[in-house]
Amino acid sequence: MTLSYDQAIEELLHAGVRLHARGWVAATGGNLSHRLDDGSVAITVSGRHKGELVADDIMRVGMDGAPLDGKKPSAETPLHTGLYRLRPEVNAVLHTHPRASVVLSFVRADAASVTLTGYEFLKVFPGIESHDARVTFAIFPNTQDMAALQRQVNSWYAANPASPPVYLVRGHGLTVGAATVDAARYTTEAVEELLAYELERGRF
Ligand SMILES: [Zn+2]
Repeated sequence: MTLSYDQAIEELLHAGVRLHARGWVAATGGNLSHRLDDGSVAITVSGRHKGELVADDIMRVGMDGAPLDGKKPSAETPLHTGLYRLRPEVNAVLHTHPRASVVLSFVRADAASVTLTGYEFLKVFPGIESHDARVTFAIFPNTQDMAALQRQVNSWYAANPASPPVYLVRGHGLTVGAATVDAARYTTEAVEELLAYELERGRF
């Protein structure tokens, strides 16, 4: 991966517009990031509207989540850096608040994970070649304690190393990591669509 900070900013701004158009980062919800070549991370500044981002709304943090340029990062920054530390293949992380993901996390109130199978669309996940595959990702309880949440994420991936870099936080949202911003956005679209299928099936 060779990507300048300016290129990372361009990609995050573009993703913000697209994600907002789908209604998945309403108001100031969500946060978007990109791993940089020097090991730091470009990430959205706290409280900015993701559909109206400008270059100044992106900042740099270290892999420990600490700001490198005096701006204030989102409170959820540790979830981004946590996923980069866990998964070396992940270069972009998109955290959104999409409707089907949030509602399904409540409908499956006691579930610690969701397993999807039988859907042709599962082939969007790297390495999946058939609708018969089973894809499982975690549902974590929501908390304002990001360090505690990241400890749960770390435990999940230690126990489930093949699980994709995708997880839900109940009543909160969806976090997706991928090799590129576009790939993370496509996976976000696919997961939200798959979970909308699951919700719809649950009505019959
Ligand atoms: Zn959030």
